[in-house]
Amino acid sequence: VIWLGQAEHSITTTCAYCGVGCSLNAEMKGNEVVRMVPAKDGKANEGHACVKGRFAWGYATHKDRITKPMIRAKITDPWREVSWDEALDYAASEFRRIQAKHGRDAIGGIVSSRCTNEEGYLVQKLVRAAFGNNNVDTCARVCHSPTGYGLKQTLGESAGTQSFKSIEHTDVVLVIGANPTDGHPVFGSRMKRRLRQGARLIVIDPRRIDLIKSPHVRADYHLQLRPGTNVAVLSALAHVIVTEGLLADAFIEERCEDRAFLQWRDFVAQPANSPEETESVTGVPPAELRAAARLYATGGNAAIYYGLGVTEHAQGSTAVMAIANLAMATGNVGREGVGVNPLRGQNNVQGSCDIGSFPHELPGYRHVSDSTVRGLFEQAWGVPLQDEPGLRIPNMFDAALDGSFLGLYCQGEDIVQSDPNTQHVTAALSAMECIVVQDIFLNETAKYAHVLLPGSSFLEKDGTFTNAERRISRVRKVMPPRAGLADWEATMALSNRLGYPMNYRHPSEIMDEIARLTPTFAGVSYRRLDELGSIQWPCNDAAPEGTPTMHVEAFVRGKGRFIITQYVATTEKVTRKYPLILTTGRILSQYNVGAQTRRTENVQWHAEDRLEIHPHDAQERGIRDDDWVGIQSRAGETVLRALVTERMQPGVVYTTFHFPESGANVITTENSDWATNCPEYKVTAVQVMPVQQP
Ligand code: SF4
Repeated sequence: VIWLGQAEHSITTTCAYCGVGCSLNAEMKGNEVVRMVPAKDGKANEGHACVKGRFAWGYATHKDRITKPMIRAKITDPWREVSWDEALDYAASEFRRIQAKHGRDAIGGIVSSRCTNEEGYLVQKLVRAAFGNNNVDTCARVCHSPTGYGLKQTLGESAGTQSFKSIEHTDVVLVIGANPTDGHPVFGSRMKRRLRQGARLIVIDPRRIDLIKSPHVRADYHLQLRPGTNVAVLSALAHVIVTEGLLADAFIEERCEDRAFLQWRDFVAQPANSPEETESVTGVPPAELRAAARLYATGGNAAIYYGLGVTEHAQGSTAVMAIANLAMATGNVGREGVGVNPLRGQNNVQGSCDIGSFPHELPGYRHVSDSTVRGLFEQAWGVPLQDEPGLRIPNMFDAALDGSFLGLYCQGEDIVQSDPNTQHVTAALSAMECIVVQDIFLNETAKYAHVLLPGSSFLEKDGTFTNAERRISRVRKVMPPRAGLADWEATMALSNRLGYPMNYRHPSEIMDEIARLTPTFAGVSYRRLDELGSIQWPCNDAAPEGTPTMHVEAFVRGKGRFIITQYVATTEKVTRKYPLILTTGRILSQYNVGAQTRRTENVQWHAEDRLEIHPHDAQERGIRDDDWVGIQSRAGETVLRALVTERMQPGVVYTTFHFPESGANVITTENSDWATNCPEYKVTAVQVMPVQQP
């Protein structure tokens, strides 16, 4: 116990917002948090935190918290408060009724990256062992599923290659489709510090993000591409590197597959991939693109940082592979200061993918069709497992509409607000017979639910989160769950009612099971996490603190594999009716759908989502700052206030998505990544016109 002013003691835990995963000290008076301060020895944040981590924890005690389980037979009925027993009995009997009538595959589960590793692991175990199918998916489906696919194909592991600390050794920073100062503020500050020390900067983004020009930081090159053309730009960068003789020949020869490299080299060398030929598609001046390629290839240690501006496209997985190709081609993998670094939006996106929440993978990214791996889990769990991948989230919606998927357990994820084409999502949910929502608030999805199980906030539970640098950190309970049960206890109770016994006494036992069954987590335990502070997987007894830099001697898959990344234009085209492209992003003070941050003082810094529009496009339409504008796409329409700004390029508009009333996903389309179904949030053709205040 440490005495700190008005606080009586302090408990170290991990921020539940972005993928930086800052270590925070909750300063307590009795069971109440009085202050949240960054932990000085936190390895991800080194004593820093942003306005979300420091000030936006009050939602945990907000009056809107659901504290009693509730049920209703139809979504038009009023909610009825019931005991935990009655709610769980009802959910279990409904799931079994649906399966008896419509088959084993008629139900499934969705896991949130806001939940801990232990909670996510239990939900996928519930689905695979108690439901008896593989219909489990995670909200990473709608953000970083292309990262999982693309990095596995090329490098052999579905994770970033570096520690955050690695940037201290970087000479050239290439940021593509990410806005670190808003989305990942503590790491963004660390990046700016390195840039102030003299590292060079290339930004590839349709919008003028703050990093391009902020005090003491200037981007050397801003390749202001048109949304949807990442792959064409990345191919053009590769074209310059190949045709100007800037390849890291020795690295490629020693570390990469020959044949795949030669095929890729011939492909990118084609004139069609040159900066000059692609300019009409990308909008990027060839001279700038050539100069940026030369800087990336020859400027010393070069590191790529990317975000959802890469993954949330019809070619999201292709772009991730194109990024990995660039890093291999220039030898920028396998040491400090370089690498391929996905910046994860949610705190536990990495973790929720690691622990088997995808329908095709058991924990540790091992395919369900692998009989050896399946045998391991069958023996440990005592049930036969299915060898075919289950339904992804969008497939669940489609199956609901054709009457074959009727029951859903949804933990901590507001799919109505977060998933694209809201009308399609709500139609699918309306068609289901039993939706169990486990959440801390009555969110938009809960409007379609039949059972509401009160969730617990990060302050009310023990567990672990895994951040964007693969760092597993402890989440520690600082107050009891407001509704009596923590999420993992409710999942366990549901499983027991379904006839599949689970008997964990503490989340540490769940982690012990994960570590036993997952080679990359070997040796992880709460005791070791308490001793070491955090662990970066892959780890084992020989390397208990884990692996800050991956692929050092060899790639996880053996040799690195170049993959041909042919640019294919999205089918979402601008027309006379929809002449502008809408793209989306986050702002510093708010978090995702805003359910948490909107219920804190942070709302004073951003009280509404606005539509950013270039002065030229605004003038053409008679739109001034603060005017209300209607935004219409092929999927739907919504109304926002305008912010006229030169951050935007002509022809492109932008909004954040933190408020349900802004309806950003009412207008986004159903297009998705060809490999993973990650939605194409970043490209929606729209028309924007002035309207009366709604
Ligand atoms: Fe750190 Fe991200 Fe939390 Fe901010 S939101 S305190 S950067 S983990």
